[in-house]
Amino acid sequence: MLASSSISRFERSAGEIMSLSSESHPKTHSLSPLDGPSQRVRVMAIELGLDESESVLCARSAQAIGISKDVVRGVCIARRALDARRRGRRHLLKFVVHVDLDLAADYRSPALDRAIKSGRARHVEAPARFELDSAERGSRARRVLVVGSGPAGLYAAWTLASNGVGVDLIDRGPGLRERGRAVACFTGTGELDPEANLLFGEGGAGTYSDGKLYTRTQHALEAPILDTLIAAGADPEIAFDARAHVGTDRLHRILPRLRTRLEEMGVRFHFGTRLESLVRSADESGQIVAIQSSAGEIACDAVMLGIGHSARDTIRSLARDGLEVEAKPFQLGLRIEHPQSLIDLGRLGQEADIASLGHAYYAMVAKGSDAIPTVHSFCMCPGGQIVAAVAQPGMLCTNGMSNSKHSSAFGNSGLVVTLGPREFGEGRFAGVEFQEQLEKAFFEAGGADYSVPAQSVPSFLAGRPDRGLPRSSYKMGLSALRVDELLPPDVTEALRAAILRFDRSIPGYAGEQGLLVGIESRSSSPLRIPRDPETRLARGFENVYPIGEGAGYAGGIMSAAIDGARSAWALLRQP
Ligand SMILES: Cc1cc2nc3c(=O)[nH]c(=O)nc-3n(C[C@H](O)[C@H](O)[C@H](O)COP(=O)(O)OP(=O)(O)OC[C@H]3O[C@@H](n4cnc5c(N)ncnc54)[C@H](O)[C@@H]3O)c2cc1C
Repeated sequence: MLASSSISRFERSAGEIMSLSSESHPKTHSLSPLDGPSQRVRVMAIELGLDESESVLCARSAQAIGISKDVVRGVCIARRALDARRRGRRHLLKFVVHVDLDLAADYRSPALDRAIKSGRARHVEAPARFELDSAERGSRARRVLVVGSGPAGLYAAWTLASNGVGVDLIDRGPGLRERGRAVACFTGTGELDPEANLLFGEGGAGTYSDGKLYTRTQHALEAPILDTLIAAGADPEIAFDARAHVGTDRLHRILPRLRTRLEEMGVRFHFGTRLESLVRSADESGQIVAIQSSAGEIACDAVMLGIGHSARDTIRSLARDGLEVEAKPFQLGLRIEHPQSLIDLGRLGQEADIASLGHAYYAMVAKGSDAIPTVHSFCMCPGGQIVAAVAQPGMLCTNGMSNSKHSSAFGNSGLVVTLGPREFGEGRFAGVEFQEQLEKAFFEAGGADYSVPAQSVPSFLAGRPDRGLPRSSYKMGLSALRVDELLPPDVTEALRAAILRFDRSIPGYAGEQGLLVGIESRSSSPLRIPRDPETRLARGFENVYPIGEGAGYAGGIMSAAIDGARSAWALLRQP
């Protein structure tokens, strides 16, 4: 919910807890090293009023777990969220904060034990490091080829290079600057470059996005990944903000710095280089010894495949060459847009100071039944813009992005249901074919020029055509159409029920200022490349590692980055 905040920031570096001055005042952290070994305890869900100083947190969290604040040697905010739940008609806004306390390693107390047993507190492990201990590392891979410069590929490369392994990183798309020109040309003229677009090129699919960084995985690698982003220029608040986001404008400043750092670590980047096929050794092992790319053959000891979920040509070609691929359920629906002021009012109330709290966010679920599927709101972009996130000509697919300040007048979100083989049929590529069929239908219905089929929310609910449409952030044109008829009937029915349900939380959500556009078909991958859970090797291969969203193991920037890094660890551990 909280996009930015006026409260002062706790200083935090790489998960370290700062020592406190004797007054235990978080704003006056002394940075002197802690005395002796320590233990870290996370105190959960401490409430903090919007006007209260963070300095109360030390005493308040110590009191919450029944220990004296005098035994606390350091404190920092581990996570901070805005609680905007309504009580009756009023929004009683407050922060809910998880606070990390640093105590002497040998500190014990029955009260602390009780707090840990009850779940009010828990011990926190030190954040992971990309580097493995030398005893953990095998010796097999000398030169690894990473395919894809999305978050999965970038953090696989980061982890490998941090451990001294040579990396060639290829991407079919161009570097950031050239990619930016191609995207601007597409938005201005409708001319789509199938190799340089919102999905392909440096940084992968998330380069033009809201840059939301939160994930439900809570993996220990999250902190070091966030630290690399902070070191490259992201706001340090992303380390603890429950709704951390970076924004497209900042991502464009961060990515070149990440690339420079990776190059310093020895990673060689090859843009405009598309993987075509895997080259097996002539001997019995069948190991992959090289790849065939659009720029020629590249030799390697292992391949990490982080190609995202829109490289349908590549995945089909690899499947023909023997890579196992299986269908998995995926999400599909529409994107909904409202004036951001309507969302702010509904979520935060009349009195909220948006300038200091930031624009409101929402994540809502309308639980389904046997007759009707569950609907999720997905990837909400406060103060954002709807975009056509496509790489293949002749198809349309919407998504959302925003800048770091969330400064547009609109808020948009995906509204999706999960579909499985019952809806899209049997066969490993049945889900992809279903997506393609609908993406083509939306493209053609819109006028085959990337105008997006659009319907006002009241007309969608009533199943009638529009006479006029509300304003929208989408820049490539709206075509007023019966979007309700373009979708599979079950999906339309589920979305109708969900929108009416969501209107109870955000008054006006189902009203005339709401607009639906589509199709939102790539919130998740319709395919999985099966891999061994421990070695993370693709089934039937000895040195191929499928990673990230396209392989079916991630659903966003942070989860893809973590999957890339963990798979690199698995590779490094191979004896
Ligand atoms: C508009 C938009 C907004 C989004 N907003 C958010 C958000 O706010 N927060 C969030 O968590 N997620 C967001 N997502 C989703 C997120 O971007 C993806 O989940 C994430 O990027 C997946 O990472 P990945 O590394 O697995 O794949 P990708 O990021 O898709 O990267 C794959 C890369 O592989 C390259 N590639 C493909 N085929 C080949 C080939 N044959 N040879 C060489 N290179 C190849 C591509 O060019 C691409 O750069 C958004 C996505 C879009 C499209």
